[in-house]
Amino acid sequence: MKLSQIQYERPDKDEIIAKYNQILSDFDTAKNADEQIQVYQDCIQMQKHLNTMASLAYIRFTLDTRDTFYSNECDFYDEMGPIFEDYGIRFADKMLSSPYREQLEQRLSPLIFLNYEIAKKAFHPNAIEQMQEDNRLCTEYKKLLSSAKIAFRGEELNIPQLGKYKESPDRETRRQAYQAQGQWMKEHAQQFDDIFDKMVHVRDKMAKNCGYENYVQLGYYRMGRNCYSPQDIAAFRQQVLQVWVPFLQQIKAQQAQDLNLDHLKLFDDSIWLQEGNPQPKATVSEMFENGKRMYHEMSSDTGEFIDYMLQHDLFDVLARPGKSGGGYCTELPEYQMPFIFANFNGTYEDVDVLTHEAGHAYASYRAMRSIPLYELTQGGMETCEVHSMSMEFFAWKWMPLFFKENAEKYKYMHIGNALSFIPYGTMVDYFQQLVYEKPDMTPAERKSLWLDLEKQFRPYLSNEGITYMEEGGRWQCQSHIFERPFYYIDYCLAQTVAFEFLIEMHRDYDKAFSCYQQFLNAGGSKTFTQLVQDAGFPSVFSEETFSKMIPQLKQILESLRNNLSSEQ
Ligand code: ZN
Repeated sequence: MKLSQIQYERPDKDEIIAKYNQILSDFDTAKNADEQIQVYQDCIQMQKHLNTMASLAYIRFTLDTRDTFYSNECDFYDEMGPIFEDYGIRFADKMLSSPYREQLEQRLSPLIFLNYEIAKKAFHPNAIEQMQEDNRLCTEYKKLLSSAKIAFRGEELNIPQLGKYKESPDRETRRQAYQAQGQWMKEHAQQFDDIFDKMVHVRDKMAKNCGYENYVQLGYYRMGRNCYSPQDIAAFRQQVLQVWVPFLQQIKAQQAQDLNLDHLKLFDDSIWLQEGNPQPKATVSEMFENGKRMYHEMSSDTGEFIDYMLQHDLFDVLARPGKSGGGYCTELPEYQMPFIFANFNGTYEDVDVLTHEAGHAYASYRAMRSIPLYELTQGGMETCEVHSMSMEFFAWKWMPLFFKENAEKYKYMHIGNALSFIPYGTMVDYFQQLVYEKPDMTPAERKSLWLDLEKQFRPYLSNEGITYMEEGGRWQCQSHIFERPFYYIDYCLAQTVAFEFLIEMHRDYDKAFSCYQQFLNAGGSKTFTQLVQDAGFPSVFSEETFSKMIPQLKQILESLRNNLSSEQ
């Protein structure tokens, strides 16, 4: 069956609630662990169906945002999400207090129970109203950001369309593109400030209604974090400031020198070559031919995966009117189908769709087939991002297919941007923590906090010349800060593990790849820290991790840079 042939039907609210009530009472009357497991399976089956329908509605809405039917369906899930969550928690509670719990843990997995404990901490019926309001505010932000119509050189562009000018080899073009976006954001500053201010207060109240002092702890629980705490993240952040930032400062100085600049500005940050960043030399159909060849050559298993994706039309990558911006990978669990959404724009980002998003899809494809317990197919977001970010590196071997003679340049830019990301991502996380610790900060105070953090985490970069960014407004177009609180450090933790895979693959590619496959196969059946340990890597929170990997990353970076100068 292809994605387009799957039938959508809105789940009936009353029926779901009745079914949940039935499940709850069946669980109580079950006479032994076997019978309780039977009820558990029924419950999971229903949740799987709900998730499949919600995911299908979201996919179809993003494929054509003008479609009011699917837009209404998405509103339905925004509204019903917290109510269904309430019933899910009631069920989790029954499992946790079952007289047969020991047997259940043995037969299912103790991790399911740990995750239930966390899910319970992440919810309280008194907070449903704030959760619904939070969902509505997220939609309002999404609409505001996607409503952007920015006049630029005779065209009217949205933010993603401005992207190619922000990456232009011509510095003045880049500056003007950033300035145009900054100007538009400044004109809408009041709206951005208001939405975020409401979000912070709604989340703070949500946290208080769940029994916490502020949103920080609740945010961690809502991210389902089952193996590290805000203290671990604080230790990671210390390493970033003490070890990573000084290391990166050297690299950025080299980058500035290569670009013939005294000092990097915001609009130079992602540019690594004077001639500009390399772009793929392939048409869309060639890109897919190359992708297919790459995954077939990588392993028989990835070959099967890519064939499955293509045969079932599980990519939608061409930009067209009405289609939502951005890119993502999701899944339809009832059909064991991953799905990749993107908007190709002719830049190297198109290749990322075939490496990063396909890395997610490959992990999801494998987990849905190899892990019998649905709840353990997917781990935390940091685990999922290891799948995708590592695949970006495992795909390096095939970059000549996409970039021809510029493949080395692509790799150099790729690792450069990955290294630069660590302080940025950490700063985004720390910003959120400080904001939720002091919910009564004014919008102006939040902007000044952002500028302070920029000085600490990115001392090599200046916002000079970009009005709104100089005023500390840069974070307002980082959608995670609005829509997915505390989902950001995940990328930094995952990038760190992906660097470990990159170093390993330079020692022994095949060994590193099979280690990666084991990481994927486990899905969410182990915690992130356990998976990292099983892969033979040191903890990402350990004091030595960065200092150990830095010399090796430097070596990889330098050898790429040397190849470039010998090519010229
Ligand atoms: Zn990702």
